[in-house]
Amino acid sequence: SIYGDYIKSVIRTVPDWPQPGVNFRDITPLLQNSAAFRKLIDSFVHRYQEMDLDAIAAIDARGFIVGAPVAYELGCSFVPVRKKGKLPFKTISQTYTLEYGQAEVELHSDAFRDGDRILVVDDLIATGGTMLAAAELISRSGGHVVETSAIVDLPDLGGSQRIRDAGHSVFAVCS
Ligand code: 5GP
Repeated sequence: SIYGDYIKSVIRTVPDWPQPGVNFRDITPLLQNSAAFRKLIDSFVHRYQEMDLDAIAAIDARGFIVGAPVAYELGCSFVPVRKKGKLPFKTISQTYTLEYGQAEVELHSDAFRDGDRILVVDDLIATGGTMLAAAELISRSGGHVVETSAIVDLPDLGGSQRIRDAGHSVFAVCS
């Protein structure tokens, strides 16, 4: 994307966090830089403004930071995809496998209408497990996943390929 190199330059890599051997991509310097944050949101708005979206489904928690301003700007719904146990109403859930153990994402059962055009947003795609679980949940609830998206894709981890292999389109501002 047009601002990709610039956005990448304001993301910090923290070695050995949260555990040895992991290079964590820390987006807080990007959020602190108001010009960079605006370019980030504009990148999403520019890509999706003619796509007739009904809702942005944003993944808990850093996906919310991007999803909410994009939904506001596009004039569509904002729907949180949350970690297990956070949503108060009737939910549907999707379990997925992590490197060690399992995780679960949840969605309110009345979050979408059948056929709603949904963009899924998160901060980063690593193995793709989280994004795939969210997309699966949305499809099960009757939504149409128009695209899955993130600020950063780490293609070496194979996640975006896995998501594409499952039949979804993937957009990342930088990789
Ligand atoms: P995946 O399910 O693709 O393996 O991991 C992606 C999820 O874990 C996303 O929800 C993302 O927030 C989080 N995550 C994993 N690694 C990183 C990282 O290096 N930086 C950030 N900001 N989030 C990460």
